[in-house]
Amino acid sequence: MTKAVFLDRDGVLNRKAPEGHYVTRWEEIDLLPGAREAVYLLNHAGFLVVVVTNQRCVARGLLTSGELEAIHARLLHEFETSGARLEAVYYCPHDKQPPCSCRKPQPGMLLQAAQTYDVDLSVSWMVGDSDSDVEAGRTAGCHTARVIDDDRLAATVADLVAPSLLGAAYQILRAEEAVPAARVH
Ligand SMILES: [Mg+2]
Ligand SMILES: [Zn+2]
Repeated sequence: MTKAVFLDRDGVLNRKAPEGHYVTRWEEIDLLPGAREAVYLLNHAGFLVVVVTNQRCVARGLLTSGELEAIHARLLHEFETSGARLEAVYYCPHDKQPPCSCRKPQPGMLLQAAQTYDVDLSVSWMVGDSDSDVEAGRTAGCHTARVIDDDRLAATVADLVAPSLLGAAYQILRAEEAVPAARVH
């Protein structure tokens, strides 16, 4: 079995679109500082890095699944060229209603990836910038990290909080070093 870090996309890897807007073209993917480095560090610590993202812009007809997948293929390539490997991007194309099993806070995408890549969820992490990311990670049985990019004091149940993905990656690596493989809860 392997360990994984699941990453939310918008607000973690790339800058979030303004409220009510969606990233629908590659040109709108604005990678956040340190994102590539964070993935690189996690890779080298033995983590499989998998993106899990809610994209109801597909259900809303703002772009097709094919267009979204083309953006994701380019994203993977972009990271690969800097030596950072994103294993796969899972996305939920559905709207909030009717409920599906993949839209976070449901853990469906994490469970599916865990099955495909033989991931031990109990030694894996979910990193996201919203409550639904943390909830999905907790429900899947992962450790959780919340990225909070402003000063507002967010009440969160995440295991750790960081100002960026890179900050979260450093803390995850530190937690790995501090705790032996047989983790006692
Ligand atoms: Mg997000
Ligand atoms: Zn879904």
